[in-house]
Amino acid sequence: MTASLQFYGAAGEVTGSCHLLTVGSHRVLLDCGLIQGGRRAEARNRDPFPFDPAEIDAVVLSHAHLDHGGRLPLLRQRGFSGTVHTHNASVGLVHILLADAASLAERDAERENRKRARAGKPAVSPLFTSSDAAAVDRLVRGHAYGESFDVVPGLSVTFHDAGHILGSACVQLRIDSGEVRRTLLFSGDLGQYDTPILHDPQSPGGNDLVLMESTYGGRVHREREDTIAELGEILHKAAETGGNVIVPAFAIGRSQELLYLLGKYAQEWGVDRWRIFLDSPMAIEASEVYWSHAHLYDDEARRITKAGMPPLENLFLTRSPAESRVINRLERGALIIAGSGMCTGGRVLHHLKNNLWRPNAHVVIVGWQAPGSLGRRLVDGDESVRIHGDTVRVKAQVHTIGGLSAHGDAADLSRWYGALGGTPPVWLVHGEPEAGEALADRLAREHGCRVSTPRPGDRIDLGSVA
Ligand code: ZN
Repeated sequence: MTASLQFYGAAGEVTGSCHLLTVGSHRVLLDCGLIQGGRRAEARNRDPFPFDPAEIDAVVLSHAHLDHGGRLPLLRQRGFSGTVHTHNASVGLVHILLADAASLAERDAERENRKRARAGKPAVSPLFTSSDAAAVDRLVRGHAYGESFDVVPGLSVTFHDAGHILGSACVQLRIDSGEVRRTLLFSGDLGQYDTPILHDPQSPGGNDLVLMESTYGGRVHREREDTIAELGEILHKAAETGGNVIVPAFAIGRSQELLYLLGKYAQEWGVDRWRIFLDSPMAIEASEVYWSHAHLYDDEARRITKAGMPPLENLFLTRSPAESRVINRLERGALIIAGSGMCTGGRVLHHLKNNLWRPNAHVVIVGWQAPGSLGRRLVDGDESVRIHGDTVRVKAQVHTIGGLSAHGDAADLSRWYGALGGTPPVWLVHGEPEAGEALADRLAREHGCRVSTPRPGDRIDLGSVA
């Protein structure tokens, strides 16, 4: 029996993570991610898979982000009926993520079809539907870190904490097909060291080859202490000027991290002066998954949180639209965390519309903003923006905070590899070409390992590497 690995997505780019592992007659996908980044790129999601979904025996999913698991509903719809193996904590997060993506896709298709009907054009269907997403839920099976489980004959898998978001895993794959015995480590997405809430990324040893992400392979993040200090200064300043603070944030990961920091620095930052609103049903659901997995927190987070929750008495979880509308009447003292993270939709739009024109309001941008998004226009300092068809003057103070990335930087990635032991050959994925080249140079220089950057469709025979 032979064994091979073929690269289909996130080879030479960041999104659409998807690799095919063949062991004898069995086929297993590592991730099945959505391609993201503008209309042209996203249209590729509708293309046929470069393999027959019905012939895939199982999927191993590293973590609950769309660029890693967002095409699972499509895979299911097109014939896949195997098991999706992921970490226990990812089970709940994947459900939230795919349900939200499906309802967004359905709403987009509805809007597009109203336009098309008026123009006499044929209707389009959503990329996938809520029932496609629900069908994936029935295939997902959770596992704990450190537990080894068989995926197909000749392949057993162990998850190790990747420290990226709750439940994120580095996937160690032990292949024993008789002729070929190899241990392959797939990094998934790796977090920063000393990140809030989560453990540092683990570096399991004994690998014959390593498949590694390279998102920030070409840069070093700003010091976390500087970011923390800046957040505190903004809150003090905002309390003096007396307006509201709006933080657009992604529902999974960033929102929980912000709440945690508000709890941790409550005294220093004078957090009790604020009424804090987590104004996103999706972020509330994701937070509940975090809070129910406090055993996965690092020591500091276990000490600070109460039953997994940040110690914030002034935190309001606003689930219903009616509760959310009440916030609109507040002119001061509200700290509002709402999605979407790039201000491309969701409740944050209402809050921006109500506050951007007020000179005493503050907007805090905590994540990367795609070109063309409303969030990017705010970062770029546009004097007025359009929200729901209205022009809104930007008088509020817009702050852009770096350093809260869920991804490790080049130094983190090199540290993670160094701690694996030995110098197993590396295949770099999940990065733009420049980031991949920079990381390849760094790894070769610092560790003396062999580094390759595969192209989409490249296939390696696992029997011939080592
Ligand atoms: Zn990720």
